[in-house]
Amino acid sequence: MINEAVKYYSLNELWKNIKKLSPKRRYIAGGSDIVISHHYDDLNTDLLVDISDIKELNIVKETSDSVFIGAAVKISEFKKNNIIKRYIPALYECVDYYASPSVRNIATLGGNLVNSSPCADGVLALVASGARVVRNLYGKQKLSDIFDVIIGPKKTSLKKDELIEGFIVPKWEHRAVFLKMMPRKIFGISKAGLCVCANLKGNLFKDIRISASSVGPAVIDCKKTSRFLTDKDITNDIINKAKDIISCEISPIDDHRSTADYRREITAVFLQRAIEKFVV
Ligand SMILES: Cc1cc2nc3c(=O)[nH]c(=O)nc-3n(C[C@H](O)[C@H](O)[C@H](O)COP(=O)(O)OP(=O)(O)OC[C@H]3O[C@@H](n4cnc5c(N)ncnc54)[C@H](O)[C@@H]3O)c2cc1C
Repeated sequence: MINEAVKYYSLNELWKNIKKLSPKRRYIAGGSDIVISHHYDDLNTDLLVDISDIKELNIVKETSDSVFIGAAVKISEFKKNNIIKRYIPALYECVDYYASPSVRNIATLGGNLVNSSPCADGVLALVASGARVVRNLYGKQKLSDIFDVIIGPKKTSLKKDELIEGFIVPKWEHRAVFLKMMPRKIFGISKAGLCVCANLKGNLFKDIRISASSVGPAVIDCKKTSRFLTDKDITNDIINKAKDIISCEISPIDDHRSTADYRREITAVFLQRAIEKFVV
């Protein structure tokens, strides 16, 4: 039963105090996942450690070749931040599909990764952008692949007290298309999603990264489809072949939100729509 919360404002303060806290402690950022889970599952937690205002987790900064986004940056911020808009267009584009405005104002990118849902919009955008994860345990940083952190639905490889400090996204010249099938325009509930980040020269994709959501146990990095489309002249035949490849690369299931057949079909249609948006 959760009956207490503490809040820290810097990583220094957090690492100085954390080992003195209840052994059943757990992080909270926006609370949009953990507060709901708390109602349905026994989280074996009696203390929430609020990291939402830790200053190092709320930074967006650029270097010559990459952008760092702190894990506690709120989803609604992606629309307001010019560095994100310029260099990580997938995050900018995902906002309109992400839950409702009230959830976007509290939900964070770090929480989205750690919740590890197959329909996580932030993760979908990060994967297609080529992001890596900065982990931090007691002050020691480690850089990881996103799929070293996500090890299954709602499961991560994070150790006790290990924190997602943020994400490093390489700067590369590209545009992004983010598509999501939802029963209603807001509230976010996803049947399937697709994100394509690409750099088109003439009629050729020079660099392309494709990710898909709600069509497997976790967000999927569609490497085979991306490889297939790289350096190809975009014709109807190539688009049809790419649709066949992505259909085999995903593994959707039937559940209360949709059927596996529909999800497979809509993912292929989304790929076609995304390619057409780049080419037009
Ligand atoms: C009505 C509703 C609609 C939603 N719609 C969408 C949607 O459209 N798309 C979507 O992707 N998601 C959606 N969600 C899910 C949720 O809003 C997101 O996953 C959100 O990004 C979670 O972030 P948070 O800060 O609220 O996480 P929290 O609930 O604070 O935390 C989630 C988990 O992550 C851990 N955690 C948080 N931050 C860190 C960190 N930096 N390091 C280590 N561990 C951490 C917590 O301990 C907890 O286990 C929705 C949720 C609700 C309630």
